Amino acid sequence: MYDLIILGAGPAGLSAGLYAGRAKLKTLIIEKAIEGGQIAGTTDVENYPGIKMISGMEIGMTMREQAENFGCEFVSDTIEEVELEGNVKKVKTSGAEYEAKSVILATGAQARKIGAPGEAEFEGRGVSYCSTCDAAFYQDLDVYVVGGGDAAIDEALFIAKFASNVYIIHRRDQLRASKSLQDRAFANEKVHFIWDSAVEEIKGDKIVNEIVLKNLKTNELTSIKAEDEPFGTFVFIGYIPETSLYEGKVNMDGGYILTDDEMNTNIPGVFAAGDLRKKTVRQVVTAASDGAIAGINAEKYIAEQEGTLYEGFK
Ligand code: NAP
Repeated sequence: MYDLIILGAGPAGLSAGLYAGRAKLKTLIIEKAIEGGQIAGTTDVENYPGIKMISGMEIGMTMREQAENFGCEFVSDTIEEVELEGNVKKVKTSGAEYEAKSVILATGAQARKIGAPGEAEFEGRGVSYCSTCDAAFYQDLDVYVVGGGDAAIDEALFIAKFASNVYIIHRRDQLRASKSLQDRAFANEKVHFIWDSAVEEIKGDKIVNEIVLKNLKTNELTSIKAEDEPFGTFVFIGYIPETSLYEGKVNMDGGYILTDDEMNTNIPGVFAAGDLRKKTVRQVVTAASDGAIAGINAEKYIAEQEGTLYEGFK
């Protein structure tokens, strides 16, 4: 029996693990992919306080090391089922079943898909959601980036370090991204914009060789075809919370988990932290902050249950 099981090893889960480990809780962190979550795919992180510039991959690895140094155990597995009610919380993975006194839900969010025909078929064969993983394949080739938020512009600027040209396809004629990112994109000679447009279809043979765009103002269709060389299509249009496992169990709004300021869900002993929470700002620093709060409150919850809570902590 663990004191605490943390579902997900993104910045929220790892930060929760660090605090729980330091509080000497017997803690297990379960993650199906790599530590760091979404940030592992970000090249340059320059807005984590105290660190001028770091790769997302390095943040994830360092946070894991910190949690491990304080005794957290890690399991790499897919979570299949959770039982959150009662004093003993149960987590079933594809390989085992675990029990704990408390649980922190920190499974984050995943990339939103365009939903165009051909998108799923050509994922990994010309369609990508991760520039750190795939930008280098497009050295001296053209790349199309879908989206207009911080992620799309940030990633387009990174991809421009490799590609000949980066064309940003956005459904409106104004970017959502922050002013500083916009300024950098507008100043970059390799970055171009295709406004008011959506990807209608992605076609190919073994790899993508055509994308069909629709102008949303005129309904005009344009086909972009690979002539002699292939091109890449990268999609950065936001995220969808990874909360389907908790549906009907914890209170949610639009798929995002509702918590109070202390990261409590509606179930005693069940906390939520990071991007799967209903909130307005989703940054590494806010995920880490959520995790710290959840970790500390999990410790408090367990002590309360066991009657060992220090009076001054109440
Ligand atoms: P976002 O801010 O929600 O932006 C999503 C973009 O995709 C918007 O421009 C949106 O268009 C477009 N979009 C949404 N659904 C679409 C669809 N079905 N088809 C076509 N376009 C669609 O998401 P994000 O850029 O992934 O950022 C998420 C969070 O992470 C934000 O808080 C952001 O600040 C943060 N972030 C920060 C950095 C950084 O500071 N360096 C980097 C990455 C992410 P509309 O504008 O028309 O709605």
